[in-house]
Amino acid sequence: MKHICKAIRPIVCMLLAIILCAGVIPAAGAAEPSIVIEPIALNNLDFIRGMDVSSVIALEKSGVVFKNEKGNKEDIFKILADNGVNYIRVRVWNDPYNAGGNGYGGGNNDVNTAALIGRRAAKYGMKLLVDFHYSDFWADPGKQKAPKAWAGMTMEEKTDALYAFTATSLKTIRDAGADIGMVQIGNETTMGIAGENSWYNMAQLYNAGSQAVRGFDPDVLVAIHYTNPENSYIKTLADFLHDYNVDYDVFATSYYPCWHGSLSNLTQVLNYTAQTYGKYTMVAETSYPYTLADSDGHPNTIGEWNNNSGENMLWDFSPQGQANEVRAVMNAVNEVESCKGLGVFYWEGAWITVGDVTGLGGKQYQSRVVLNQNIWEKFGSGWAASYCGEYDPDDGGKWYGGSAVDNQAFFAPDGTALPSLRVFADVLPEGSYRLGDADDSGEIDVIDVTCIGRYCANMPMDIPEDILLHGDVDGDGRLTVIDATWIQRHLANMEVGFPIGIWKQRIPKE
Ligand code: CA
Repeated sequence: MKHICKAIRPIVCMLLAIILCAGVIPAAGAAEPSIVIEPIALNNLDFIRGMDVSSVIALEKSGVVFKNEKGNKEDIFKILADNGVNYIRVRVWNDPYNAGGNGYGGGNNDVNTAALIGRRAAKYGMKLLVDFHYSDFWADPGKQKAPKAWAGMTMEEKTDALYAFTATSLKTIRDAGADIGMVQIGNETTMGIAGENSWYNMAQLYNAGSQAVRGFDPDVLVAIHYTNPENSYIKTLADFLHDYNVDYDVFATSYYPCWHGSLSNLTQVLNYTAQTYGKYTMVAETSYPYTLADSDGHPNTIGEWNNNSGENMLWDFSPQGQANEVRAVMNAVNEVESCKGLGVFYWEGAWITVGDVTGLGGKQYQSRVVLNQNIWEKFGSGWAASYCGEYDPDDGGKWYGGSAVDNQAFFAPDGTALPSLRVFADVLPEGSYRLGDADDSGEIDVIDVTCIGRYCANMPMDIPEDILLHGDVDGDGRLTVIDATWIQRHLANMEVGFPIGIWKQRIPKE
C-alpha cells in the first residue's frame, strides 16, 4: 500500500489544483422524488437486488441507447449499479444458431455473450448469476429440449456432456472478468431438464452440473429453479431434491403475480424449503408492467387485453406501481425465516423496443413494425427469430417477433431510466450509503473528489461532515486527499484496494 501512496503523490498535487479551481458543489441529497419507496429492514446489505439483462448486448447491436434518469447516455451497467442493483443474471444457451450461423433470437445468448455481460457487470461491482438452460433456446415448464449436439446421447453421455459444458463455460465467463457468485442448474425445470423428465435422470443431471460448479469454485452457490409457487407440487419438488440427494444450496422460484399466487403463499413455500431442508431461497424471476401500452409492435405478455387483472395484480400500472411490486416481492423473500431469503432477480428489466411505435397509426405504424422485424431478425433482439424454426418449430418458429415485456422494463422506449429503477436502492435501510459518495448523490463521480478536496482545504461546504465521511474510502476514519485520489483512480478504471461504490450502513451516533 505504502509504495502506491508514494507513487500517487504527484497526482495528488495535480488533483488539489483541479479541486480548488472547481465550481459550485450541489447541495447534498436528490431533488423531490417522483416515486416513494419505504425502506425494508433487510437481513443484510448483500440482499440480492438483482436484474436479468440477458438481451442487452443484442439490443445495443440493434441501436438501442440507454440513458440515466437525467437523460445522459451511460453504460447501462453503471446505471443499474447507481440505482442499487447488486447482481446480474444471464441465461446461457449451448448453441443458439442454425447451420447458416443465424441466431435464434432472444438475445442470441451463447457463452461468449454471457461472458461479455459478466465482465461489464463486474466493472461496476455487480456479481453474476449464470443461468444455464441446457438447451439451444428457451427452456421453461412447457419445454426442456436438449441441445442439438446432445440429441441421441445415452444418459451417461448426456451427464458427461452437461458436466463438461458447465465447467468449460464457467471458466470462459470468469476468464473474461466476471465475478460469478451463483449458478443455476437449469431454468424453470419444474417438468424436466435437458429433455429428461424422470426424477432419477433429473437428479443425475442436476448433480452433474452441481459437481462441475463445486469443482470450479466451492464458494459459488448452486441454485435449482422452479415455477408455480401457487401449486403445492413445488413442495413435492423440494422433497424430491432431498430424497434423490441432489447437492444444491438455493431453492429458487419464479414469481409473476398474474399467475403465481399471493405473496404470503410465496413466503410460506420458501419457508418450507428453508425450514425442512435448511436451504437458501430466492425469487429468480419477477416483473410487473409500468404501463399496459406496447412500444415495439409485438404483443406483450401483459397488456390491455391479457393478464392485467386478478387478485394478485395489486399495484397500479405506473412506475410507482412497478416499484411497489418489486419492494413487495423483496419483502416477501426477506421474511423467510432464519435469514434464508437471499433476494430477488427482476426478469429482463431492460428489454425495450428497437423502434418506438407509440403514437403511430396506419401505414406509419406498419412500416415501423417492418423495420423492427428486420432488426430483430438481424441482431436477435426480439424474443425469437425465424431462424429458430428448425429447432423450435411449434413455438418460436411460429410466433417469432419482438419483446413481449417492453412494458415491464425499467427504461422508457427512448432508453431513459424510469424513476422506478431507484427501488433497488430505495429499499435499503435508512442510513445506507455508497462508499465514496461524499455528496450523497447516489453516484460516485468527480464531484465527490471535489467535495473531499474542498473539505481538506477548509473551504466552505453545506454538506454535513457525517455525509462527507462517506468519502473515507481507505477507512482510516479521516477524510484526506488520499481518499480523493483513490476515487479518482476508481473513476479512471485504475486498480483500487477498496470496494468503492458498494453499499454500506451508517451507524447512527449515540
Ligand atoms: Ca412488445
